[in-house]
Amino acid sequence: MRHFSLLLILLFTLTACGSAPTSPSGTAAPVILTSTTFLADITRNIVGDRQTVAALLPIGSDPHSYQPTPQDVTKISQSKLLIISGADYEHFLEPLLENAGGTQNVIEASAGINPREETGNVDPHLWLDPNNVIIYVENIREALTHYDPEGAAIYQANADAYVAELKSLDKWITEQVNQIPIEKRLLVTNHEAFGYFADRYGFTIAGTVIESFSSDASPSAQQMAALIDQIKSSGAPAIFLDAADNTTLAQQIADETNVRVVTDLHLESLTNGAPAGTYIDMMKYNVTQIVNALK
Ligand SMILES: [Zn+2]
Repeated sequence: MRHFSLLLILLFTLTACGSAPTSPSGTAAPVILTSTTFLADITRNIVGDRQTVAALLPIGSDPHSYQPTPQDVTKISQSKLLIISGADYEHFLEPLLENAGGTQNVIEASAGINPREETGNVDPHLWLDPNNVIIYVENIREALTHYDPEGAAIYQANADAYVAELKSLDKWITEQVNQIPIEKRLLVTNHEAFGYFADRYGFTIAGTVIESFSSDASPSAQQMAALIDQIKSSGAPAIFLDAADNTTLAQQIADETNVRVVTDLHLESLTNGAPAGTYIDMMKYNVTQIVNALK
């Protein structure tokens, strides 16, 4: 995927100085498109009501296995900015950008963050540590300011206010997690999504059903057997799944190890309203589920 990043930089360089924006009122197409629903929420917090923002992916879809539609090409070609998380997350995007004619400004929200890497694969789940989202906010604010210089002061004020909220989210998570003794901070998850969260809040990853940074893979019989041993020897009491995950394998493992399965974390998509209607609510809901299962 290395050449993909280069392609994004090239597209950005070619089209970085677009025309000044006109009022979004009366235009049906969103001016700013984001890949995922949580990025749309983060972006709206900075944009306010100055531009229209929409997510390309629908609520509840799994970006790892997303199959793009022809309408996605239209949405991309009609948008002025496309904001992505980056770090090898949006694998569905490369053919879409080619089909959309490469006339978009693509902004990588995670630019400048050094991602976790294992055996040559990049861990894209940066947003599960709010401190990384603070960097997202700065990158998005800068891109918006470049695209719409007259809005600079508004974007700066909105970004400052949102960063303050993200800092209190980080503090809140630390307080919640402190209810769990450090030796019980054990996470077993569907795929390897919790690396950044674990690093920040002192968790150990006791095992994963799918040994991949993507949910779009399957474990072998040997990997299943090894995971059962890991759960038994670590004493991890629960397996945590995203609401979009298939529960069959996790349930089989839970039956063998006598642990519970938490099936409704929201890691890659917001929900329509509660419990994960915003990025901050999504994080709070996930942390509450984790603390309740482990404390
Ligand atoms: Zn994931």
